[in-house]
Amino acid sequence: MTSPDMSQKRVRSEKIRCDACPVMCYIAEGKIGACDRYANQSGRIVRCDPLTIFDRRLEKGDEIKPFLAAEWDGETVNDRDMVVSAIGAGTTYPDYKPAPFIVSRDIDGVDFVSVVTEAIFSYCGVKVKIDTDRHLGPETAAVRSEGECIGHVMTSEYGSQMLSLGGVDHLTGGSKAEGRKTCDALLRLCNKEAVELTIDGGSTVIVQAGQAPVVDGEKQERMRVGCGSAAIGMFASQWKGLVDEVVVVDDHITGVVSEHQAGKIIDWPDTGIRILGHRSTPGRYFRVANPGLGWGGTDIEDPLSILGTWRPEKGATPGLRLLMVSTTGEHSAYFELNDNLEPIARAMPDALQPSVDLIAENCEPALCTVLFMGGAGGSLRSGVTRNPIHLTRSVHADRTRVTVGGAPVYIWPGGGITVMVDVLDLPDGAFGSVPTPALVAPLEFTISTAEYMQLGGHLASVRDLSDVLETGGEYGDAVRTVGGDP
Ligand code: SF4
Repeated sequence: MTSPDMSQKRVRSEKIRCDACPVMCYIAEGKIGACDRYANQSGRIVRCDPLTIFDRRLEKGDEIKPFLAAEWDGETVNDRDMVVSAIGAGTTYPDYKPAPFIVSRDIDGVDFVSVVTEAIFSYCGVKVKIDTDRHLGPETAAVRSEGECIGHVMTSEYGSQMLSLGGVDHLTGGSKAEGRKTCDALLRLCNKEAVELTIDGGSTVIVQAGQAPVVDGEKQERMRVGCGSAAIGMFASQWKGLVDEVVVVDDHITGVVSEHQAGKIIDWPDTGIRILGHRSTPGRYFRVANPGLGWGGTDIEDPLSILGTWRPEKGATPGLRLLMVSTTGEHSAYFELNDNLEPIARAMPDALQPSVDLIAENCEPALCTVLFMGGAGGSLRSGVTRNPIHLTRSVHADRTRVTVGGAPVYIWPGGGITVMVDVLDLPDGAFGSVPTPALVAPLEFTISTAEYMQLGGHLASVRDLSDVLETGGEYGDAVRTVGGDP
């Protein structure tokens, strides 16, 4: 390991240089650097946050228990129980230097090493899934944070709308303000904080991982039970006999029970209804209205606006009972046809209300999901091995396990080591940033020692856990333990 004296070049007696990222701050005694992550403590650069170690012997969620080298009692540590994460580990820059901690572990009699580093990601972003039927904005529309474009709207999936935020073009390819705002929004989202986003031509939405989205000031409670067609398929038999026609209004696929296959199978009679929309297949209609904040993610406030004239020759008769409902059950109305075959609003019959409630009951809570995504296939691999391509191959061959802050990741197929992780799986405050601008994410590679030797790993820097606990690392000797499995 590079000694502090070698790595912290003195330029003036009262200031020393931090070399943990390309910014290379000169930090005065008692001050912190531009990223708030490193400080000059008594003439030595230290990481402001302690190294985080997961301790399975403690209860999950057990409060962080700081202990310094001086308090370490020398108790024999079990490599199965305690796992060194990269949170608070620090970064070595440039990357050809060994990662801050390379820790040997014995797992069931097999020697492993965990190589941990806080990786600096210029190539990273987040994918956001927002559970709501409300139309947030058109696909490809710009998404802004504090006025700066930080990403765009992607596709609508099943009851959710997706955003892609960040990425190297927003972090480095635009104005300084765009890069800073992008980095700031990504950092807060990854650290599970609430971020207000505005969508061009659409809504304002407050996004926070694991929390309900707030769209234009309205908290979203429910994720829809399915599309309009799916709702018909689920509940057709429960409506039979209680009502003569059901329309489930949905921005994507509006369902009509009398025409739908689900109704046909149970001999639901024709009603002569006419839907103003594009008929896809029997009982399934696209584009009945424009997207919006109204019924079923459409812009309609009056559900009758999607109905044409009723056809007596196809079964429409005075007194015919019609239920219209949205895909979350948040909107519902009951009508009966008068003598002119016009729907007239009536009070919802008691017998019908439970079926509306059942739709609502089957909805899941609306949540925001934030997945951090970054490319770890670049230079940081050199902190693991002198021959970086070997690490990439080892990861794709499942011989090296990658985690982010102890959390399991999805590795994208294809080139590089492109990881994706649910930020809720990480301890709070695990991400940081530097003003280049870039995000800092904890990254751990766990490899059998035999494989590590073959990769050309930095074997001279391998230490055991007791040594880490007793002597700390280049950037500090404070440790915190977090209970539960990483
Ligand atoms: S921004 Fe942070 S990591 Fe980078 S040199 Fe300054 S103090 Fe060190």
